[in-house]
Amino acid sequence: MNLILLGAPGAGKGTQAEIISEKLNIPQISTGNILRAAVKNGTECGLQAKSYMDKGALVPDEVVIGILKDRIAEEDCKNGYILDGFPRTVPQAEALEKMGVVIDKVIEISVPDEAIKARLGGRRVCESCGASYHIEFNPPKTEGKCDKCGGNVVLRKDDAPETVIDRLKTYHEATAPLIDFYKSRGKLVTVIGQSEVADTSKLMLEAVNG
Ligand code: AMP
Repeated sequence: MNLILLGAPGAGKGTQAEIISEKLNIPQISTGNILRAAVKNGTECGLQAKSYMDKGALVPDEVVIGILKDRIAEEDCKNGYILDGFPRTVPQAEALEKMGVVIDKVIEISVPDEAIKARLGGRRVCESCGASYHIEFNPPKTEGKCDKCGGNVVLRKDDAPETVIDRLKTYHEATAPLIDFYKSRGKLVTVIGQSEVADTSKLMLEAVNG
């Protein structure tokens, strides 16, 4: 099964993708996590991406499309995958179609901008494995340490309040048109993001199976 999770930054795509990935036993592909790893490792692609990411802008389409194409060609993707954070523009969605990728469902997690701003202020991520936490709603068991790998759990640079405003603007301008794009293809299901992670997961799994 090939799924796309759509939603504003901080709507909970990453957390929900992790949960669905475990339940369905298909990999979560997060272009944000791949790019952050590239930045950390100082690769050519990371160097290109960093300035865009730091200011909350989108990395150019050709860079992310190349990354995605290589990733979905890997062996673990043969039974399907969950795309978390890709596509983020109409040209990226068109590139997926050109690659011959058949998407089963696109699940949009809908959360109002005001709630997003509050959530991102409390979000923390593991700098080693990318796992996502929230200081209030979903804290790690040991403060500052990842439950999964023991890495440091930190505030993402692009979760700073002024950057969040830019990321939301980018979402509404460049990514939200994908809602109509996939609606017109009969693929879109909208789930209202709940304050409890588990409540949203339940709705998401119903949407996947429904
Ligand atoms: P995320 O972790 O999904 O919020 O992604 C973090 C940052 O990586 C975004 O703000 C963008 O700068 C970049 N990024 C991730 N995925 C994409 C994409 N599909 N297209 C363009 N930029 C992306």
